[in-house]
Amino acid sequence: MATYKTVALVLRRIPLGEKDKIVTLFSRDLGKLRAVAKGSRKPTSKLSGASEPLLLLRASLAEGSSLDVLSEAEVREAFPKLKSDYGRFLRATYACELLEKVMEERDPHPESFDLLLSTLYILQHAVQADTALHAFELQLLAQIGYEPQLSACIRCDNPFDTDYPPVGYSPSRGGALCIPCTEFLHGEAMPCNATTILLLERLTQLTDAKALAGLELPDEALTEINRILRAHLRYRIEREIKSLGMLDALRLEQQTIARNP
Ligand SMILES: [Zn+2]
Repeated sequence: MATYKTVALVLRRIPLGEKDKIVTLFSRDLGKLRAVAKGSRKPTSKLSGASEPLLLLRASLAEGSSLDVLSEAEVREAFPKLKSDYGRFLRATYACELLEKVMEERDPHPESFDLLLSTLYILQHAVQADTALHAFELQLLAQIGYEPQLSACIRCDNPFDTDYPPVGYSPSRGGALCIPCTEFLHGEAMPCNATTILLLERLTQLTDAKALAGLELPDEALTEINRILRAHLRYRIEREIKSLGMLDALRLEQQTIARNP
């Protein structure tokens, strides 16, 4: 049986029978792959602690007839600060699930691996976790060719500037709209502020980890960014993202606490 080693992030695991798990890994050089971690549901197994989500592994795998087998795994990073903070944990879980949903199996995307890894580090200490998460969403969308069009109107293609600002967003077309086009498409256009479109552009380009971790945006801008990105993603990713429901509930709870301390 051929064996191979790879560096991978654990995106997900599901139980398989009483003793095993199926893990979904995202390998830097091989892309998304699923493997059986035999015996890993037993607490005494060496693989038990190394086959959970949000771990960076140096993994040894053996080729199998249907699924490959995770034979050995050395944990390189466990992201402890993501696991001790429920809000950060949910955001990291969502980032992994989004990536899992948009990637095909065995289709390597090293740039997306680097993006997710750096996002997990940033999420551990970001001043505003949602800002870092939205930068991840935008940059991942850009890597797979689904990024929003933000610098020129998606309908008439005229470039935006201070005299010709974006005032709307079309989720179905996937981009910002000028004033006449927002009026023309009033049924499908979401009204938005020009500054929100500028912030979306900035988050798409901002890759400096320190700057991203320290970036704090006003609550209203963050709410609008979330609304636009959510609608944009709904048109491009047809599969349900389960962790989003929990994340929404948490955001709502945090907003309610902020309003009624
Ligand atoms: Zn236009």
